[in-house]
Amino acid sequence: MTQPFRATIPPRRVLVVTGSGISTESGIPTFRGAGGYWRSLNPEDLATRRAFQGDPNLVWEWYRERRKRIASSRPNAAHDAVTRLGLATDEFLLVTQNVDDLHARATHAGKHLLPDRIIQIHGDIFVSRCERCDFSRRDPAADIEPVPSCPKCGGRLRPGVVWFDEELDPDQVQRIEHFLAAGPCQLVLVIGTTVSFDYIAEWIQRGIGKSTVAIEVNPDETILSHELDRHVRERATIGVPVVISEFLGDR
Ligand code: ZN
Repeated sequence: MTQPFRATIPPRRVLVVTGSGISTESGIPTFRGAGGYWRSLNPEDLATRRAFQGDPNLVWEWYRERRKRIASSRPNAAHDAVTRLGLATDEFLLVTQNVDDLHARATHAGKHLLPDRIIQIHGDIFVSRCERCDFSRRDPAADIEPVPSCPKCGGRLRPGVVWFDEELDPDQVQRIEHFLAAGPCQLVLVIGTTVSFDYIAEWIQRGIGKSTVAIEVNPDETILSHELDRHVRERATIGVPVVISEFLGDR
């Protein structure tokens, strides 16, 4: 590997962006890939505010199944390696497009990433929040009532995710903006994402612009591949631990 891939000790600033590709090997189907359809319905049509308003029962049923599936899945070697990197870095931000909690559950030497190092830009599937007021709670994967209602105002609860026809949470966007503005990164690591959202591409590009090295781990080429310094054409569980060990000098 050419210089200066290996971090100065310890790495100061690192940005990691992950997509569904990091969770597929934990058994979480992607929206677009095989197994993405549910009862012959396209997830991209179900994951909308419009679908929820039309048939909240159906949409909740789908989310409950997904919660159960995620709850019974485990973080894989790629999630654990990202946690290792985060624990070893002074300033670290992980932006994940995944609504599962596998990054939060991943460990290295028995430790987790602190929540302030993780941004779930598309929300958290285990959160239920009110459509009307500011109430929200974290639910277990177990069955809840078909369409749960808000204990505070009686309104309807909905999954705490960002749907395709919705805007991102401005507070989370602000956190990413602050991180990008605060200084250059030694490493930008892009894992398992096809980069199909413009804002994700833009954040990665801005991170790359100021970084020492930018690496993509993805079996396939993506629209940003030509802008990255290095491509690891492997599944996440194979490629990510190797890249991170190399970066950290395996100390
Ligand atoms: Zn409410």
